[in-house]
Amino acid sequence: MLAKTPAGAAPATGTSFLDELFDRGLLIETGVDGLYGRSGLFEAIGDGFQALVTRHGGGDNAEIVRFPPAMARDVFEKSGYMKSFPQLAGTVHCFCGSPADHLALMQTIEQKGDWTAGQQASEIVLTPAACYPLYPTAAKRGALPAEGRLFDLMSYCFRHEPSKDPARQQFFRMREYVRMGTPDQVTEFRASWLERGQALIAELGLPFAVDVANDPFFGRTGKMLAVNQRDQRLKFELLISIESEENPTACLSFNYHQDHFGKTFGLTTADGEVAHTACVGFGHERVILALLKHYGTDVARWPASVRSALGL
Ligand code: AMP
Ligand code: ZN
Repeated sequence: MLAKTPAGAAPATGTSFLDELFDRGLLIETGVDGLYGRSGLFEAIGDGFQALVTRHGGGDNAEIVRFPPAMARDVFEKSGYMKSFPQLAGTVHCFCGSPADHLALMQTIEQKGDWTAGQQASEIVLTPAACYPLYPTAAKRGALPAEGRLFDLMSYCFRHEPSKDPARQQFFRMREYVRMGTPDQVTEFRASWLERGQALIAELGLPFAVDVANDPFFGRTGKMLAVNQRDQRLKFELLISIESEENPTACLSFNYHQDHFGKTFGLTTADGEVAHTACVGFGHERVILALLKHYGTDVARWPASVRSALGL
């Protein structure tokens, strides 16, 4: 279960973990909570983690796809994200005015007024989870082959949840494997990743727990969606202590969407049935932070086995 901070890790002092990460130069302040730069060392740990994920999942011949950290607004609208998590979404707004509007804009900025009031919604929104842009593009290819499909994704994602907890960022990366196919193919994928995910984190020597997820669905209908998610065991999370011992952080997640994306985007199996989908998500920054928390911010002093698993 969740172990105490080991010997050699940063001692508990008055400064927070976030302050320590800033002091060490691992994360770089921007003036906004949850929006940080990353150092070369932070990125090197992350590269090691990504290579480890590929060692565990690479044998499955997933098709690699990389999207930018933004997606089409109409796809986002269709996805249903606003029904569940409107508080987390980020939209891209732009100036589309005339030269006269521009003059007024510059004056408003100079007077420290609300210059954003005139910005207009663009056709783009920020990606909330790496797999969202994938479903319509996969559906466009026509029915799935009999063996279904498997994709390997990675993207910066945005969620508006400003926080001093370094494990809760506004822009963070998510690596995902996404499976599309029959209910059997998809549930088998998720079950196998529930095992593999634990083996992968065990290789890093990090103490963890696995539990059903508790997503922050919005409002009153959200309460029902949360109950449904728990009762139907649609999502599991692999939790590791980062910011708090009592409330460990979800670092990996294992999602079964049933036929939600299949129905929404017209994705069908070889037999013409609505396709089911599932994804496993790896929180890139969260795993790096879990390592830094558990073994300390002096990476040279990490156990040799962990450094070697990460190629450091
Ligand atoms: P979710 O779609 O909420 O299951 O997110 C997938 C993975 O992304 C989670 O398991 C986390 O590891 C990671 N993640 C989610 N939200 C954040 C955040 N605000 N900051 C950093 N990582 C996050
Ligand atoms: Zn996903």
